[in-house]
Amino acid sequence: MSKQTLSFQAEVAQLLHLVTHSLYSNKEIFVRELISNASDACDKLRFEAINDGGLYENDAELKVKVTLDSVAKTLTITDNGIGMSAQEAIDHLGTIAKSGTKDFVSKLSGDQKADSQLIGQFGVGFYSGFIVADKITVESRRAGMKENEGVRWVSGGAGDFEVETITRPARGTSVILHLRDDAQDYTQAWKVKGIISKYSDHISLPILMEKEEWKDGELINPSDENGGRQPGAMVKTGEWESVNKANAIWARAKKDITQEQYNDFYKQISHDFEAPLAHTHNRVEGSTEYTQLLYLPAKAPMDLWNRDKKGGLKLYVKRVFIMDDAEALLPSYLRFVKGVVDSADLPLNVSRELLQESRDVKAIRDGCTKRVLSMLEDLAQHDKLPEASADGVTDVLNAEEKAQAEANVGKYSKFYAEFGAVLKEGLGEDFANKERLAKLLRFASSTTDAVSVSLADYKARMKEGQEAIYYITADTLAAAKNSPQLEVFKKKGIEVLLMTDRVDEWALNYLHDFDGTPMQSVAKGAVDLGKLQDEAEKKAAEDAAEVFKPLLAKLKEALKEKAEDVRVTTRLVDSPACLVVQDHGMSTQLARMLKQAGQSAPDMKPVLEVNAEHALVKKLDGSVHFNDLAHILFDQALLAEGGLPADPAAYVKRVNALLV
Ligand code: ADP
Ligand code: MG
Repeated sequence: MSKQTLSFQAEVAQLLHLVTHSLYSNKEIFVRELISNASDACDKLRFEAINDGGLYENDAELKVKVTLDSVAKTLTITDNGIGMSAQEAIDHLGTIAKSGTKDFVSKLSGDQKADSQLIGQFGVGFYSGFIVADKITVESRRAGMKENEGVRWVSGGAGDFEVETITRPARGTSVILHLRDDAQDYTQAWKVKGIISKYSDHISLPILMEKEEWKDGELINPSDENGGRQPGAMVKTGEWESVNKANAIWARAKKDITQEQYNDFYKQISHDFEAPLAHTHNRVEGSTEYTQLLYLPAKAPMDLWNRDKKGGLKLYVKRVFIMDDAEALLPSYLRFVKGVVDSADLPLNVSRELLQESRDVKAIRDGCTKRVLSMLEDLAQHDKLPEASADGVTDVLNAEEKAQAEANVGKYSKFYAEFGAVLKEGLGEDFANKERLAKLLRFASSTTDAVSVSLADYKARMKEGQEAIYYITADTLAAAKNSPQLEVFKKKGIEVLLMTDRVDEWALNYLHDFDGTPMQSVAKGAVDLGKLQDEAEKKAAEDAAEVFKPLLAKLKEALKEKAEDVRVTTRLVDSPACLVVQDHGMSTQLARMLKQAGQSAPDMKPVLEVNAEHALVKKLDGSVHFNDLAHILFDQALLAEGGLPADPAAYVKRVNALLV
């Protein structure tokens, strides 16, 4: 193939613009990105070579070399990994194939700081080279291809790039950065070494740089002051030395790893800029042997709600990288967990399909799930400082424990705000751990706006005679708080949990009770406050039902298209009416949500409950506007819970007629 010029895909051009204009505040990340690509390329080769040893071409010692040239003003990163064919160079370096990256580009806000954080998350790594380079040359040959089937790719990072075929004996890839004038310090060995050890210590293959030695300048005239020498300089010795530890962090003993090293490793695998909230690192022995190093991120990624998003765990087998996003290693409701699992038992050529069936993987998955839940329980327990009691219980903690406790304060709340809704999916997904999950749930309630009430807290505060945990689901906190269904509970001082996450309704289907106490929606079924209602109240309700019988029958007739039933209720105090669904029916809120999402929801008619004490209801009987009032009553009940009348125009007409 002779030299040809091709245009970047539009998204790439956009991305390049961002890279060169926004990322200069964090220039050095290009080192991490390019070394990580080199390391990926070596992993890929190792993986393909499992089935075809010939790909090693008698050079099985995989490594990365970093060369600096202050005269040519270049920094070059060379690997002997899988390499690229000409077509692969065009495809991988000229277009963005991954839909995630396209998403990324569409989400760019133009805000420099926010955008540069994003770039890391999406791993749009290669283009980061243009932060420091005004031209990048890539030379590569794919493993197994002929020497004269190499490729050279060159671009100035604007609209297009050039590709041509070259002869390249060495397998693998060299990325040559032609450094900008303001990035010349990246030809300094000490500087580059520092960055490599910061970001890439854990890369499990050696990163080599040529050793340099101080050499005195040449002796010109011994009688001169300063010895008559030219200035000295560092010169290359021709020897290569490894500048990273090349030691998989998870394989090391816990006591030898600092918090900072744990955090750095997390940042490297997650592309997150923020430190994780917590980690757990264990070597599991027994019938299945593996090492797990799992992290809880502090922030949710933007694609958390993407159903196709794979898990965040990397799978290694005896330190050989096997795959990213090994979704079989954790249930999907823990998809936010990042980390590494290194198995001693799985075969190297294990495929995703095989993973699904493996008994070892099942054991790993159970083990990882338990670990993550313990980590969460631990954070939950330390979310608040132990209250200083009169008898000085907190003093029992020694200084170190106190500092530890203080460091953990607020972490669980932070975690829950980011990932709580995902965790709830576990109620329907992981029956074996349902009870542990239920204890980890937190809700807002009619007495606190903060999402901080656990079911255990709620139980501890239940009124004497209260037999259920009451909750309401709604679209927003305001709608939940002001719902007519809450009126009687407010009057009686009974706490009600307010649930506003989209998954709540679905998740609660799987949680019938907590620790022996049933969960009861206040918008479902007839209100039964049981022992919380005294005899007089019950009697009054029964009497009202009797007196209102003829009126209810008329209402039912007038609303037969809309309401399943009409009955008198004691749950209302200030509102004239509300809608409820039958005990096991789907709430109107969930039905609405499903319809909005374009899914089919059963067309169920709700029950209209009226407040016999309300002036509007009393006025109904004998009114000449009976029919209009009945419909208004129904439509207003729908509005009060965030719904819309089936025929809004008719509603407006009726109200206006009455107003006039
Ligand atoms: P990512 O690494 O997340 O896939 P990058 O932008 O860093 O995204 O790299 C894009 C693609 O270019 C890689 O997926 C890979 O196919 C190819 N590539 C980059 N660097 C190398 C390399 N050193 N060797 C082989 N392929 C590479
Ligand atoms: Mg990359």
